[in-house]
Amino acid sequence: MSLDLNNIKELDNGNKLVGDLEFPPRKMWVKTYGCQMNYHDTERMVSHLKPLNFSLTDKQEEADFMVFNTCAIRDLANQKFYSHLGGAKHDKAQREVKIAAAGCIAQTESKALLKKYEQLDFAFGTDVIDNIGEMVYRAYAGDKKFSVTSWDRSDDYSIQTKVEPGKPQAFVNIIKGCDKFCSYCIVPFTRGREKSRRVDEIVNDVARLCKYQGIQEVTLLGQNVNSYGKKNGESLAQLIMELEKIDELKMIRYTTSHPYDISDELIEVHGKSKKLSNHLHLPVQSGSNTVLQRMLREYSIEHYLERLDKIRAANPDIVISTDIIAGFPNETEDEHRATLELLKLAKYDFIYSYNYSSRPGTKAAKMDDVLTKDMRGRRLREIQALQLELQAEVRQEMVGKTYRVLVEGSNTMKGELKWKGRSSCFRIIHFKPETPESNYKWHWVDLKVTSVTALSCQGEIVKDYGKTI
Ligand code: SF4
Repeated sequence: MSLDLNNIKELDNGNKLVGDLEFPPRKMWVKTYGCQMNYHDTERMVSHLKPLNFSLTDKQEEADFMVFNTCAIRDLANQKFYSHLGGAKHDKAQREVKIAAAGCIAQTESKALLKKYEQLDFAFGTDVIDNIGEMVYRAYAGDKKFSVTSWDRSDDYSIQTKVEPGKPQAFVNIIKGCDKFCSYCIVPFTRGREKSRRVDEIVNDVARLCKYQGIQEVTLLGQNVNSYGKKNGESLAQLIMELEKIDELKMIRYTTSHPYDISDELIEVHGKSKKLSNHLHLPVQSGSNTVLQRMLREYSIEHYLERLDKIRAANPDIVISTDIIAGFPNETEDEHRATLELLKLAKYDFIYSYNYSSRPGTKAAKMDDVLTKDMRGRRLREIQALQLELQAEVRQEMVGKTYRVLVEGSNTMKGELKWKGRSSCFRIIHFKPETPESNYKWHWVDLKVTSVTALSCQGEIVKDYGKTI
């Protein structure tokens, strides 16, 4: 077996000759679970396999190659994956199909998965996504039941961003891994230690995307982007101000943040940057200091609220969202109430809230826990009900204001065609087209908000700028 992925020949019959193997046109289907990092990893896989004659399909039944890109953070996503993978046994029995597991579960459990699921051909971890071409080649060359879960041991983290053609938005990985070891989280075990790309590399990468691939909006990605560059003497604030200089780039977003690492320098950038989104997702997880200590989150609620005040002073238009875990082990009723109080103080625009679920191998999984499923469920419902009340109020201030939006698509609401886009502050606004034929896909438009509820926002078109501003 020999392989040079830089030396692929197109044959007259439509096949591609890669090393010793011919690759006919094949369909690839990917099921992605979890966070934006995973969705972006999926984009990378698809783009790496295009030269090997694979094209993406959304129909599992026509796939020649299936990938399950897994998430280990919550038990629900795990269970869904096991059930979907179990179902793929029927596909394997009916036709020639290769099946792989990728992502966080594959990183830690690849051998067990390969043993348990006979339909699985290979499994690979989070740090070898960019080697998917070699792995697929191995599978089609006849290698069976192999796993690749090695870590990239080099000090540098250097990649080129892959994007979906025709879309002006791109996810750009800037840091991978996490050094925090929050007591409930499996990420440091599935994604390794923090490693950042260099500012220069990212700026050149984004400039290339803007110039040659029409990218106008980037979301800078990492498990903890606020730690970006620390080991290289660089920072997220510095990166944003450098990206700001790229003329064609119109909007910069980043996720996810850690409240302990939000620096004064970055807060200042939220005040002065013209392109940084008016939205910050700042996961708090709990409103109780004692729970935060058990979570090993490194900050107190006082510190968190002080950061919020400072960010809002720097940028009065900023909109804040957060993550909440309901029912951390042994959370008392008072600790739960502290989270409800925090919601009232912080005035979030929206929250992602979940019941705590134990992840094997984490410190929290070893804690004795007196909470029942019912107690957790009730606390989560209380958190969500209060937040809905609060966000209905918070969003009222949008009515009458005009927002610049990049239009992402359309759908039919109660029998009526509506287009929708996301504002700088990350709110989705729906609007009616001027004519039924009007096509606003990827247009920048100004929308005046006419009405809001806790969960939806309606506007009317004020100005259509077309595909660029
Ligand atoms: S900061 Fe904590 S919760 Fe976030 S990825 Fe790292 S360990 Fe997990």
